[in-house]
Amino acid sequence: MSRDLHVYRVGLRTRFRGLTERDGVLLRGPAGWGEFSPFWDYDDAEARAWWAAAVEAADEGWPTPVRTRVPVNVTVPAVDGVRAHAIVRGSGGCRTAKVKVAEPGQTEVDEVERLEAVRDALGPDGRIRVDANGAWDVGTARARLRVLDRAAGGLEYVEQPCASVEELAAVRRGSHVPVAADESIRRAADPLAVVRAQAADVIVLKVQPLGGVRACLRLAEQVGLPVVVSSALETSVGLAAGLALAAALPELEHACGLATAHLLADDVAPSLLPCDGAIEVRRIEADPALLRAHAAPPELEARWRARVAAVEEAA
Ligand SMILES: [Mg+2]
Repeated sequence: MSRDLHVYRVGLRTRFRGLTERDGVLLRGPAGWGEFSPFWDYDDAEARAWWAAAVEAADEGWPTPVRTRVPVNVTVPAVDGVRAHAIVRGSGGCRTAKVKVAEPGQTEVDEVERLEAVRDALGPDGRIRVDANGAWDVGTARARLRVLDRAAGGLEYVEQPCASVEELAAVRRGSHVPVAADESIRRAADPLAVVRAQAADVIVLKVQPLGGVRACLRLAEQVGLPVVVSSALETSVGLAAGLALAAALPELEHACGLATAHLLADDVAPSLLPCDGAIEVRRIEADPALLRAHAAPPELEARWRARVAAVEEAA
């Protein structure tokens, strides 16, 4: 099938996953715009789920929302306390902060300073979660969480403290800080292993890697745990799919990680940004002038078109 594809490339404000630019494909179909932007280290087999999410957005659209606004968190990278404070204060009213920890080259002292600054900026009623991206072993996680929980004045949860499901379960048994599973859900052969092992209190879902809004809703129902919807550093076209999932979930207890549009130096549509700590649920149309301004150079365009062809063929 010949599809209406637009290959984009935009800069990132700060380095992420070793990248300084984000690129991908926007897909226009009868139901609207979809985004296909698997990172280049994903092979065609893994990228198929990302393609299914884009096709769902373009061809089918999304289930009816049950809410009009989705509370979102501000993300605080591994920066010093002064910078962390400023990021939270400039977040568009976010009442939840996700703070990066376990970053190479950083010490416990750095993390404590950052968490104290975030608590100061949020005030006593804000929520603070930390994300270790699987970097700790069980012993380090238990010891560090005691310190960080105190520094933060209480943690909402720790996201992926260790790499494996067994380790998550062990951390959860030995700490009163709730555990959220992220990588253990989205890159696992069997996302339900987390449930069987009683390894998490919360699951993080991302629409593209998990194959679309409906696939995520089914998974959420099977897992039966509270869900946090997070982005894969998409443009606002891709973020709108995350917003659609968050808007369609029967329950939403935690702020979602969808306030990431500001991490891109540019966007392909009017950006989905928080106001009073939440993003208003809406569909997003790519802007033709922005698409032209951020059109990928010919070589990158050809590379993406070949990737789409390979993934479509495999589907
Ligand atoms: Mg994470």
